[in-house]
Amino acid sequence: MNSPEPSDTQRFSDTQRISVTQRLSVLRPDSIRNKILVFAVLATLLPSLATAWFSYLETKRSLTAKATEELLSVSTQAAREVDLWIKERRYDLRVFASSYEVTENLERLPREGSKAVRSGRPYQHLTDYLRSVHERFVDYEELLIVGPSGRVVASSSEHPDAVVLPPDWPAHMRDNQLVLGAPYWNAAIKRPEILVSVPIAAAGAKSLGAFTARVNLHSLTATLKHFAPGESGQVYLMKEDGSLIVSSRDSSATVMTLRYSREATMSQLANEGRPLEFRNVMGEKVLGSMRGVPGLDWIVVAEIPSTEVFSQLRHLRDVMLLIVVGMLAVAGGLGYALGLFIVRPLDRLTRGAAKVAGGDLDVDLPVESGGEVAYLTEVFNNMVSRLRAGRGELERQSVTDHLTGLSNRRRMMESLENEVLRSRRLEHNFAVLIADVDHFKQYNDTHGHPAGDEVLKQVAAVLREAIRDVDFVARYGGEEFFILLPEIKASGAVILAERIRQLLAQQTSAGGPVTLSFGVAEFPVNGESGEALIAAADGALYEAKRAGRNRVAVSRATGPVRAADQ
Ligand code: GH3
Ligand code: MG
Ligand code: MG
Repeated sequence: MNSPEPSDTQRFSDTQRISVTQRLSVLRPDSIRNKILVFAVLATLLPSLATAWFSYLETKRSLTAKATEELLSVSTQAAREVDLWIKERRYDLRVFASSYEVTENLERLPREGSKAVRSGRPYQHLTDYLRSVHERFVDYEELLIVGPSGRVVASSSEHPDAVVLPPDWPAHMRDNQLVLGAPYWNAAIKRPEILVSVPIAAAGAKSLGAFTARVNLHSLTATLKHFAPGESGQVYLMKEDGSLIVSSRDSSATVMTLRYSREATMSQLANEGRPLEFRNVMGEKVLGSMRGVPGLDWIVVAEIPSTEVFSQLRHLRDVMLLIVVGMLAVAGGLGYALGLFIVRPLDRLTRGAAKVAGGDLDVDLPVESGGEVAYLTEVFNNMVSRLRAGRGELERQSVTDHLTGLSNRRRMMESLENEVLRSRRLEHNFAVLIADVDHFKQYNDTHGHPAGDEVLKQVAAVLREAIRDVDFVARYGGEEFFILLPEIKASGAVILAERIRQLLAQQTSAGGPVTLSFGVAEFPVNGESGEALIAAADGALYEAKRAGRNRVAVSRATGPVRAADQ
């Protein structure tokens, strides 16, 4: 059974549509596969990001708490230690100053005006005393006695330099019993130093001057080093104005030139040692705690670089990132596989539907597993088989004569052409018959058209009954019929025609007897093409009519007979 072929343009547009659909189903964001993929990625990304963020915050909080605790403890201890160190220095100096060697010799020192004379036995005694103490206490670079006017009276050094005490030192000394000079860098010995002074009191509390020591701050650096927090943290001492004194990291002239902003220092101090994140003097981001040293304008700062505090956080971030990426890869893969699993049968349906749309109804899709898609596939198959049946019926009707149920002329021509080709190839004979109802016009005129129609049906039934299975019968047109007899010669066709005439004679019809005239032609004797054979049979039919009707005539045409010859 031949199905109508789709035109080239139609076929092209169908192919194009399928490939475009396939391409779009991959690229389009609303394709099912992409939706599943996006869902899988989001379903993984959102909870894992939320978890990562939560654990990031938790870890940050706990790391900060740990560092805060350490910094608080370090700054407190370091401040106490610095306080102790100062107190020790004050204690030492007070012990040195209270020696009768100092007071007695100082009082005996001859004076020129207000200026003490640096010679004579009392001066020598004072110097000897200072030297002997200096030898025993190495932390003191130089021990000096400064007169009330601020001038050096005696020193442990052979060539004492002038010392500069703070301008208001006598008053300060009266109130605090201690004067600390501004820390400075001693370039000669490459050490940070400070002048520490205690009053020298004679009997009756009269001030004789100040017992002063040039104190090496290096030992303080060593103490601070001991407290350095974390792995790369530092502790340093600075004045309230923000200038650095010594640091646990290193003590150098540069350190002493560093200066922290006074406002930042004050706001940090107000925090009472609770660590804050800020930028230190070197511009590093740190977590630091500041604490004042009691009774002094000194501040202890303990700090740990933020990078160290949160180094675990970076590690955690990297691990989290790795886990999220891994999970994304797995979820993406699963989503993709699931997408394929769901989309493949849908793709098959789409391709099947495109084929059907293109006119190919030989589609029967496999129904795999259950579920909605399987149901849809079953419905689709069912629909296609109904379409197939419908088209089959249409095709049948297109080649069938409505009145008699015989094949129509279109089908007749196809069969005849096929038989010509077949017999030509096999070098076989076949015969054709054209039968025409005699005086049918008259019959119609007498009995009416409906009765004529009945006659046509009756004749068709007789013809159908008379022929073999391999023979073919069609309504040629009007009241004419055509019979094709494969492998039969003209003589055989005549026998069949006679039998038909007899069968028809036995039939009874309301309008009286009906007769047929026949024209017979044989392939290839009377014609080598379908048209030539029809023309030859038509010629013979004309002969039969002329000879009186109700008879059979065989074509006398010899050799190829062309339709134009008739
Ligand atoms: P002849 O013996 O020479 O064949 O004479 P005829 O009257 O049969 O031939 P003619 O060609 O003059 O008339 C054919 C008639 O067949 C005319 C037409 O009304 C009738 N006819 C053709 N088709 C049908 C049909 O489907 N139904 C009916 N009832 N009549 C038809
Ligand atoms: Mg006719
Ligand atoms: Mg007729």
